[in-house]
Parts: sequence; structure tokens; C-alpha cells
Amino acid sequence: MPMPQSFQDRLFPIAEDIAKHYGTPYHIYDEAGILATGEKLKKAFAGVAGFREYYAVKALPNPHILKLMKTLGFGFDCSSIPELIISREVGGKGEDIMFTSNNTTREEFQAAAAEGGSILNLDDISLITKVPEFPELVCFRYNPGPRRTGNIIIGNPVEAKYGITHEQLVSAYKLAMGRGAKRFGLHTMVASNERDYTYIVETTRMLLDIAQMIEEELGIRFEFLNIGGGLGIPYKPEDNPLDLDSMATEITALVDNFKASHGYAPRIYMESGRWVTGPHGALVTRAINHKSIYRQYIGVDACMSSLMRPAMYDAYHHIDVIGKTDQEKSEIYDIAGSLCENNDKFAVQRSLPPIQEGDLLAIHDSGAHGHAMGFQYNGRLRPKELLLRTDGSVQLIRRAETNEDYFQTLNFKDDILPAKES
Ligand SMILES: *Cc1c(COP(=O)(O)O)cnc(C)c1O
Repeated sequence: MPMPQSFQDRLFPIAEDIAKHYGTPYHIYDEAGILATGEKLKKAFAGVAGFREYYAVKALPNPHILKLMKTLGFGFDCSSIPELIISREVGGKGEDIMFTSNNTTREEFQAAAAEGGSILNLDDISLITKVPEFPELVCFRYNPGPRRTGNIIIGNPVEAKYGITHEQLVSAYKLAMGRGAKRFGLHTMVASNERDYTYIVETTRMLLDIAQMIEEELGIRFEFLNIGGGLGIPYKPEDNPLDLDSMATEITALVDNFKASHGYAPRIYMESGRWVTGPHGALVTRAINHKSIYRQYIGVDACMSSLMRPAMYDAYHHIDVIGKTDQEKSEIYDIAGSLCENNDKFAVQRSLPPIQEGDLLAIHDSGAHGHAMGFQYNGRLRPKELLLRTDGSVQLIRRAETNEDYFQTLNFKDDILPAKES
């Protein structure tokens, strides 16, 4: 099942009360579910000394959610200045923060190094000389190129803009040592939304092999290997979940073997976003129009500015009509927003129970890459975010955007650069 049954059981009976109090549409996140999933991850990897999850902030950059990550003992994976700011605001300090950037600017390097710093995860060999104050601890993002196939979503590593090549590995670390680096990490991310756990196991094996190769070449010992995010979740009811326990067992065995033959082992870091929060969010929206043309359209009061994944990736998000069961499925609908793009649909030709105007729809799995991906095109603003707390209360954790917000960037002093005199 996409959205955990326990979340449905707690949300659906009160969804209408929440709608009456706060209005629709709303994203709502399940505190108990997020904490339970975080604990499950820690428990699975308890056998790997120093295992740590660095939550991928871009998945759900709300401070109330990031505080839960802090409570779980997780770090923060950031790749922009606002993500650094928000992670520090909830108490992330120094090596609690991994700064994984791409096409990095000098300002970003400075922000990553400021206020107690962060773990710098460098994306390219050309950036080594551009880091203003080179840190003692440095990590490189590795792109295996033709050595790995990557999965369908992230694509062929050869075509991916991320990381350094296999051939650049040794010289990258050598150059970093030349700039004073003394502590080292290694990172890669070759899959996205991948439910076949063996991908992540193979990634770990690959990074351990490289750690050994670089140790032989340069005599350095890696403090950590960051095996990336990209763990998949079952968006469709028939999808199997990722087998976390098998993944953790096999990774633990790899690390144990490395330790047995080398006398030490790097810590394993992970930077999952989707797997941690994805299933614990839902977008609740009200049916406001039923249009009958060549197809049956249910117009809802949310649109792709609230959840882009269906329009952007053709992604499936399961939908429940609150108060109606799957046994009542008798209609085929397109569920549409009001943006002037024909891909502004949450579902295409979906079998659902009959929907009346006023019904509430729960669009599952909006807890990662949902609200965060929103935008304002067509003057369509982003909705509020709510937290369903463990005690059953509901807290507003971000208000909806207003027209005033939309016009904020037009609020500036006149500034004209005169034409050049000829
Ligand atoms: C997006 C991203 C993640 C998180 O991906 P998920 O699919 O949410 O696990 C982790 N690391 C990097 C570098 C990313 O860009």
C-alpha cells in the first residue's frame, strides 16, 4: 500500500475537520510515521559502526520536519545556501551537515564553510582550487560512468552531470592533500526511487573497492563512504517495498569483511529523502468541478504547483476518495488542476469511486519532492503544510502562499543602467 494504513486510519476520519479548520488544499505529514521510519532505518544499520543518515533536505525542507530528523540523530544533506540556513536553524552544526553541490559558486563554498562549517562534498576536480579555505575533511562525488548502468530514473551515469570520473579519482584526492586535506570521504549516487535493494548493496561494494584502491595508491584511509539516497518507495499498490533488512544485512557483511581484511572500516553514510518521508505525506484536495467531455474530468482545488511529480515524471500517485472504498470503483476519471497546461493532472484515466463535488481526495506519498518542488507559474500558489502530531493534534507548519507573496519580488527600488554614450 502506498500510504501506510496507520496514517490513513488517523487522517481520513479527521480530514474533513482539518479542511474546515484550515481550508483546502493542504499537505499533511505524519509525525509518528516519520519517526517510526527513522528508527527502523537506524535499527537496520545498528551493526554498522557510525552509520548515519543525512536527510536530503530538498525532499521536504520544512524546519518542523527537519527538527524530527535532528531528534532522530540524523544529519542534513544540503546543496544550496537556503538549505544550509534551514539546517543550521534547526541545530545542525559542522559535520552534521553535508554540502553536496554541483556547479558550485564561490558564495556557496563560503556559506558551506561559515558558521562551524560542514562536510564539503566536491563535485569536480576543477573546484579544488576554487574552494577559498580548503577544509581538513573533504569528500568527492564519484560518477562511475560506464562502470555502472544506473537505473531508469537517474539515467546512464555517462550522461549524468554529477561527480568525477574513475580516472580522476586518484588525482582528485592527491590534489586535495596538496591543499591540506587530511580526512577523507567518498560519495556516489547512481539510483533514484530504486526499490531493488541490490543496487545500493552494489554501490557500497563499489565504494569499498575504490577506498581500497585509493588507500593503496595514496596511503589514505577513508573515514566514511556516503552511499547516496535513491531508495525507492511503493507508489503503486502492487509495488513491492524495498527490502530494507536484506539491504542492511548485506551492507553490514561487506563492511565487516572490509574490516576483517584492513583492520578498520569507513563509516557508512546515507542521504535518503524519499524513503524517510515520502509515504508519510498526503496532499488533501477538494473536488470542485465535474466536467463531462470526451473524458470525465474531476477538477480539484490543488494543481501541479502543489505536486509536480505526475506532470514532470509521469509519476503515479495513488488517490483515495475519502469516505469511499475501492469496492465502489466504477468510474474512470482524469483528476485535473486549473493550471493552463494539459499535463496539470494528478491522475489520467484512473479507476475511482464516483466523485461528487465537495468530496475530499487524498493524493498519497507527497512527503518527499512534493510541496518542495512547487512553483508559481500561471499565478498558481503553493498550499499550506500541516503536521499530524503523535498526540493526534494538527499543527500548521507552513502557511499557504498569498497574492502578496507572489508580488513580493516586484517590490524594489527603481534601478536603471543608462545606455552607453556613443
Ligand atoms: C535528491 C538527492 C538525494 C535524495 O534522493 P531521494 O531519492 O529522495 O532519496 C540524495 N542525495 C543527493 C545528492 C540528491 O541530489
